[in-house]
Amino acid sequence: TNKSVTTRNPATGEALATYAAHDEAAVEEALAQASAAAQAWGATSLTDRLAMLRALGALLTERRAEYAALITAEMGKPITEALGEIDKCAGNCEVVADLAPHWLADHEVASGATRSWLSYEPLGVVFAVMPWNFPFWQVLRFACAALSAGNAALLKHSPDVTGSALAIETLFADAGAPAGLFRSLVVPAEDVAAVSRRVVEDARVAAVTLTGSERAGSSLASLAAAQIKKSVLELGGSDPFVVLADADVPAAAATAVRARFTNTGQSCVCAKRFVVHQDVADEFVEHFLRGVAALTVGDPTDAATTVGPMARPDLRDGIVDQVERSVAQGARLVTGGGAIDAPGCWVEPTVLDDVRPGMAAFDEETFGPVAAISRARDDDDAVELANATTFGLGASVWGGDEHALAIGRRIRSGALFVNAMVASDPRLPFGGVGRSGYGRELSAEGVREFTNVRTVVVA
Ligand code: NDP
Repeated sequence: TNKSVTTRNPATGEALATYAAHDEAAVEEALAQASAAAQAWGATSLTDRLAMLRALGALLTERRAEYAALITAEMGKPITEALGEIDKCAGNCEVVADLAPHWLADHEVASGATRSWLSYEPLGVVFAVMPWNFPFWQVLRFACAALSAGNAALLKHSPDVTGSALAIETLFADAGAPAGLFRSLVVPAEDVAAVSRRVVEDARVAAVTLTGSERAGSSLASLAAAQIKKSVLELGGSDPFVVLADADVPAAAATAVRARFTNTGQSCVCAKRFVVHQDVADEFVEHFLRGVAALTVGDPTDAATTVGPMARPDLRDGIVDQVERSVAQGARLVTGGGAIDAPGCWVEPTVLDDVRPGMAAFDEETFGPVAAISRARDDDDAVELANATTFGLGASVWGGDEHALAIGRRIRSGALFVNAMVASDPRLPFGGVGRSGYGRELSAEGVREFTNVRTVVVA
């Protein structure tokens, strides 16, 4: 069978490129290569591995315009944000190269023995399933950590961004990674379950990681569990952005617009539910709406654009359906609300007010340009609303520092940001609780996820 994957530009609906899918023989070859590469790479010095990462970072910077254009073409992110994504990847290479010697150094622990310590040793081949929303960042966030620790990577990227997946494979080779150390598998959507099973069940694969939906995460982690293999899941979020009565409301509202509409709303750590104390709610909504009106929806290749198309027609239809159901359930549509009638996957920036638990925009993750505002009676009500979700990725709380911190401590999440929007930083761990997943990426915690934390005791 000669299967293929075709990518489409979501701004226009036009086909971009068609790629031959990997058949069983090609998957076997990639596994064999990755497995051989992992053995050799795990035995190289950390200094050599980190030199490869520095070369990778330099190449990212050199090729930033080319890679950013590819991201924008494949998933519609405004070009300014695509350039920012590449720069963030390059910065991450530098941070890992600088700090991994500390993160991966032997850690002496006093015990009754003459000497005892922990050493962080590679696991082998890690299978990574990644989504389209940050086509480079999601992959490199994982790969820089896994490879610096001495592992190899086998990537199953979203078919929507197959050009990016193959560009990243070439990037690693150009940076001096040994053949097979980083491989991308081109898998059509209809084969993803079968290929995932085949790869996870292969004895040469040691662990898996997935960023994406709960459905995909649960499916892949189940396969891994059946094989007693470790998994790390970075799934969705319905992050609360809490504005308390003593917040700097104009500043909170200005940041809220960025926190919601960055990447056209398609980020796991986008603020999705705005929980606002009733005393400042009208003021917040007024400033927020002004910010939304100032967004520039349009051609994502234009540097002035701040909101692009959504990545796929089904995702556009899904978010419009969430808005319609929320309104039917009693939410108040303040602005936007529909698909934009044009070729491509366009949705108007949308604001819903009086959103309550039980409504789609509150209970479900809204992965697009739709903000849900919920008014809270008091601080306790705000905490209750913030926690009324199955997710737990990030929380942003605005108010006097100590007050906001005290409220934030009562909210369940993998990260708490006080008077700032939630964002990842290579020096800090990133991940969630509840149905947002488990395990951590970035920083020492992220690098150590795919290591064997080995205890060594000398009597
Ligand atoms: P998916 O989770 O389906 O896609 C993410 C990745 O997982 C893709 O590479 C996908 O491949 C793969 N995948 C899907 N099903 C399986 C499976 N059974 N086994 C192994 N891999 C699988 O996300 P969608 O693109 O469909 O988006 C749906 C929703 O997911 C969004 O609306 C959003 O809520 C959430 N999401 C969250 C992200 C995050 O950053 N946490 C990123 C993207 C989406 P394929 O496309 O071939 O199915």
